Amino acid sequence: MLTREQYLDSLRDGRRVYVRGQLVDDVATHPALAAPAMWIADGYERHYDATPGAHHPMYEVPRSIEGLRRRMEVVAESDVTAGLSSAALAILTAAPQLDTIDPVLADRARAFFEQCRDNDLRIAELITDAKGDRSLPPSKQDDPDLYTRVVGRDEHGVYVSGAKFHISAGPLVHELLVMPTKRMKPGEEEYAIACAIPVNAPGVTIVSRGYEPDPAHSGDFPISSRYTMPDGLVILDEVYVPNDRVFLDGVVEQSAALAHALGLWERLSGCAAMAHHGDLLAGAAQLIADANGVAGFSHIKDKIAQMAIYATLVRGGLEAAILNSERTPDGMLYPSELYTNAAKYYAASEFTVMVRNLHDIAGGSVVTAPTLADFESPDLNEALSKYLRTRDGVDAEYRLRLFHAIRDFSADTLGGWFLLSWLQSGGGLFAQRTVTSKHYDIDRAKAAFLELSGLNGGRA
Ligand SMILES: Cc1cc2nc3c(=O)[nH]c(=O)nc-3n(C[C@H](O)[C@H](O)[C@H](O)COP(=O)(O)OP(=O)(O)OC[C@H]3O[C@@H](n4cnc5c(N)ncnc54)[C@H](O)[C@@H]3O)c2cc1C
Repeated sequence: MLTREQYLDSLRDGRRVYVRGQLVDDVATHPALAAPAMWIADGYERHYDATPGAHHPMYEVPRSIEGLRRRMEVVAESDVTAGLSSAALAILTAAPQLDTIDPVLADRARAFFEQCRDNDLRIAELITDAKGDRSLPPSKQDDPDLYTRVVGRDEHGVYVSGAKFHISAGPLVHELLVMPTKRMKPGEEEYAIACAIPVNAPGVTIVSRGYEPDPAHSGDFPISSRYTMPDGLVILDEVYVPNDRVFLDGVVEQSAALAHALGLWERLSGCAAMAHHGDLLAGAAQLIADANGVAGFSHIKDKIAQMAIYATLVRGGLEAAILNSERTPDGMLYPSELYTNAAKYYAASEFTVMVRNLHDIAGGSVVTAPTLADFESPDLNEALSKYLRTRDGVDAEYRLRLFHAIRDFSADTLGGWFLLSWLQSGGGLFAQRTVTSKHYDIDRAKAAFLELSGLNGGRA
């Protein structure tokens, strides 16, 4: 396994990453990337084990309900790259389908998993294409590169061009796992490409977009100054991929297999993270209600109860997805499609209501509270200490820091990122609704109502 220093060193590999139009010299120390790099490095340190053959728990292949549950606990408490290791499990989940095309493809997929596990690598998931005009399929776009595709080949490999959007942690991982963004149709064979590309491969450029606060004011941003993760727009310009790193090439019938498997694992990780997030929102609401002296009012209690129900139901959906998991022919467990997608849909669609509750309870100081620099100013400290306290036991500094933490978490750049992230990650609400409907037994539901109504002989 890698130590935290070895991880940070491994990022100095010549990768091309841009931040605000500037090529980054060293992603491990660049002001926009150092905090997320440290967050990942902390994860390396926490799980480091010098025993030969040891590996990070995110690479543990779940073979029991308990193992799957443990995995999701690790994902919930870790940095974003543990959730992104869904990519590694997705590739194993899809391996039996690759086997039906050509066992060589499945072997390459399993070998990639082992390479990442044994070298303690971090992976980014490259699915979402530029997509151009959404009403048109890949082959009808006016620029053929708007969906990632094979643009050339020789006997040893393929050349790939295109762009992948919103790639979480892209600048700070080692491997880019590329897969088609959706099912391709006959005639779209060049787009049916799945492969693995090292971040520093020639032709790879990452335009990183983060939401890191100004380090000079990190006290006003107590959460995002430590827990940020950049997303990257990854440009692939005729990147050469050797055959042994190609998992799918031109087989349109199986083009959705990898993305589908990834969507499933990604949504399960989303449920784990959002159950935890639901707890944090409820905790923040109770803390600020206590501090403001409103905790006893019935409408405040109602809102916090609603938040507790939300967090509990999301966790319940996660648990149901784990308990109803199924097995691949290789014996690996994968979560229930029905419960995973329904829980992720519920968690994402109700999330804004929980943030609204928090803001409703906390009051306007979430966005207007003086900065810590104001509070520390000798000119202002006495007055601010007087007016920001609520009663004995709730001093001004505690309450001020609580307001800043809530703003940072839910009403500022990081809070805005969460609003978008929980909605769109894992493919967006429409995708989760579609998969839920596909797996929900509507015939059983119809039959139950016919039975209840005494209409057993009825026609649909
Ligand atoms: C913070 C964040 C992190 C992310 N991380 C990753 C990542 O690591 N890897 C990755 O690959 N992706 C990632 N995503 C991408 C995410 O999966 C997409 O944002 C999502 O799939 C929507 O795609 P889009 O953003 O291109 O929006 P659009 O495709 O423009 O979708 C916007 C709306 O249009 C609808 N729509 C679009 N096309 C159609 C159509 N043909 N028919 C019907 N409705 C349509 C969608 O359902 C949606 O409602 C991330 C997104 C965010 C916000």
